[in-house]
Amino acid sequence: MAPHTAPRPPTPHRWARWVREALLDAAALVAPVDCAGCGAPDRALCPSCRALLAPLPRTALLEVRPGLRIPLTAGIAYDDVARAAILALKEDGRTELARALAAPLLAALDLAYAQPGAAGALLVPVPGSAAALGRRGFHPVELLARRAGLATTRALELAPEAPGRAAHPAASQKHRTLAERTSARREPRVTHDVDGRAVVLLDDVVTSGATLRAAARALERAGAAIAGCAAIAATPRRVGESAIPWGAAAAVSACIDDAPATATRGTVTMRAPTTSVSSWKA
Ligand SMILES: [Zn+2]
Repeated sequence: MAPHTAPRPPTPHRWARWVREALLDAAALVAPVDCAGCGAPDRALCPSCRALLAPLPRTALLEVRPGLRIPLTAGIAYDDVARAAILALKEDGRTELARALAAPLLAALDLAYAQPGAAGALLVPVPGSAAALGRRGFHPVELLARRAGLATTRALELAPEAPGRAAHPAASQKHRTLAERTSARREPRVTHDVDGRAVVLLDDVVTSGATLRAAARALERAGAAIAGCAAIAATPRRVGESAIPWGAAAAVSACIDDAPATATRGTVTMRAPTTSVSSWKA
């Protein structure tokens, strides 16, 4: 894999965050763990499942608004072991899985930072809610980036959830329909001076692209140039779950330059697959 140009972290890390994450890792080591992918005992991730996290990058174009389409890259399909590992990290606090997920993350960022205008771009994670941070003790996207050796710029935040919504913690993202997630999504606020800066947005999982679109719009209004969006994993293209027409990584340039849009559904421009695009379906 070619060396990526995403920003590296400043040192030293913040101690409080470091200690919190070290304690989470220690708890994972002390408690009996099974493979997050297949359940085999005593392994955070068995060799067979780890092999299934080998990057299989894919690209698409995300229409942020009429007239603005930005490259969207993902490192692997959000399915099978990748899905299990990301869910275990996010919902069960199994932060020891972050290093295994670094390969697909870096693969997605390699592609994102190879796009025009992305050199030197700030790497900005999509924000999580304060409620989720409180429940987990960490922000999954920031943690995944740090464990991959990347520096992020926390340029966005979500306003606190309305009390009525916060009272239903069981209604987490994974249990909501796409329509529910979209209606529940809040516009993030920009908390960092990004005027005139290039930005690459980072999320853990991209499904409809709505979260990234909202983040991109907010940053653009604040004067940033959105060079690309990257996610570790992309939800398979199923009706009702993802409208993003993913292509193989090699197709991104042709896709951006000359592939004609054929129709528009929702917020994502649909396009005809080219012969070089191995369309990826569930
Ligand atoms: Zn396994």
